[in-house]
Amino acid sequence: MNICSTVEKTVRTQLKRMLEAGCSFADVRFYDEDRTERLVLYDGNLEVNYQRWEKGIGVRVLKNGAIGFAATADLNAIPECFDRALANAEAAAQLLGFPKDMGSAQPVRGKYQPRFQQDPFAVPLPEKLSLLKRVDEKLKDNTVEHRMVSAHFQKRRIFYYNSEGTEIERWVLNTFAGMTVMARDKDGKAQRRSYELDSDGTGTRGFEWLANPQAFEVHTERIKRELGEIVAAETLPPGRRDVILLPGQGHLQVHETIGHPLELDRILGYELSFAGGSHVKPEMIGTLRYGSEKLNAKVMVVENSPGTFGYDDEGTPQYEYYLIKNGILVNVLCCRLDLGEANTKAGRVVVARSGASARAAGFYKTPIDRMTNVCIEWGNDGTLEDIIRATENGVILDMPVSWSIGSNREHFHFGCEIAWEVRDGRITRVFKNPTYQGHTLEFYNSLDMVGDRSTWRLFQVANCGKGEPNQIMEVGHGVPVMRFRNVLTGEGR
Ligand SMILES: [Zn+2]
Repeated sequence: MNICSTVEKTVRTQLKRMLEAGCSFADVRFYDEDRTERLVLYDGNLEVNYQRWEKGIGVRVLKNGAIGFAATADLNAIPECFDRALANAEAAAQLLGFPKDMGSAQPVRGKYQPRFQQDPFAVPLPEKLSLLKRVDEKLKDNTVEHRMVSAHFQKRRIFYYNSEGTEIERWVLNTFAGMTVMARDKDGKAQRRSYELDSDGTGTRGFEWLANPQAFEVHTERIKRELGEIVAAETLPPGRRDVILLPGQGHLQVHETIGHPLELDRILGYELSFAGGSHVKPEMIGTLRYGSEKLNAKVMVVENSPGTFGYDDEGTPQYEYYLIKNGILVNVLCCRLDLGEANTKAGRVVVARSGASARAAGFYKTPIDRMTNVCIEWGNDGTLEDIIRATENGVILDMPVSWSIGSNREHFHFGCEIAWEVRDGRITRVFKNPTYQGHTLEFYNSLDMVGDRSTWRLFQVANCGKGEPNQIMEVGHGVPVMRFRNVLTGEGR
């Protein structure tokens, strides 16, 4: 009998034992394989060659309204791991604020595999390095003082079982990559221009994506040219003007000021001690005007995204739903566990079902509410050129350099790599050190143009941090070009 079927047999027996011990729910995630690889070339030298390989199980039980969690890498000690989870739940039940409730769900049998052609972990290291080296060579230029090229691969095989009879096998396979060129400007200050591997939301996720010169390498000439324009440019003068966010910046704006504040555990105050809270309260779900009529934020199930994984860590199948519809907050990112508390605190049903957002960053971490693919739907205000033509006084901004966000995500301040000034419908010049800031709701209420499908790009975030102990999670954001009116820019960098 292979290791998976031995673990499966033990787990089924133990799940039954937990119900007999008075638990109302129990679940298990068995990571048969969890691999990570990171490679970074800095000025052509291999600065990071990081490899991690993990295997183990995480057990969660619900007893007397309290969750108990335990994990082990010793697959011969699975019953003991269940015992520890049970003891933890019994101890936690003594200190309960609000009793947890998983509700009930129909059992699911499923399998999920992302689309890929070439497993990055089957590609020999010298082949990966020679690809990164080739990109690095192309980044060399008289204006470039430092160069960085990085790649990051993830592969996991996870089996999920719960006491309701749900059994799921899923694979995770992700490829991330980025390149940055750096130089000092005429004031001696560091400037940079970068590119992160992005997509139109379709395609595959394997090594072939990175190896395709039209996907990654093709950006080397552009970022070098734009760095040259940045170092020769003046600083963006302060003032109010329209802000046109390219998806390279828009995805982070959405991540920080729509994604994070709409995580239900933050809304309920469970993340206050580390990640922060939310300006949204449970009773606002369904009625809060979050933005203008143009704002449609949606959890999407996009093929080529690290936020698409088939089933979440409670076995809920992923599906698409609106978070914000025509500017009104209609739903949040949630898992099964907190629905009861949110609805009780709101005094009515504000969240009807799990949003399949329960995610854990490893077998030894407990699932929490995470972003998946928090996207902005493309609109009907045309191409980037159409939006530029319609703008009298504005700036186009791309890629974050710095960010500072209120702990309840009620306001924000971002610095970007580059700004293109727009005057009377055309681009006039480049500015360096651009910044913009605003209050979250006021800002989204000033959204007045949303680009079409041609402007929509899916960005990958490999390092969203949350939870205590901290969990680093990968998510995706598809966003179009967006124009916001009369925004405070160019101050406080
Ligand atoms: Zn984050």
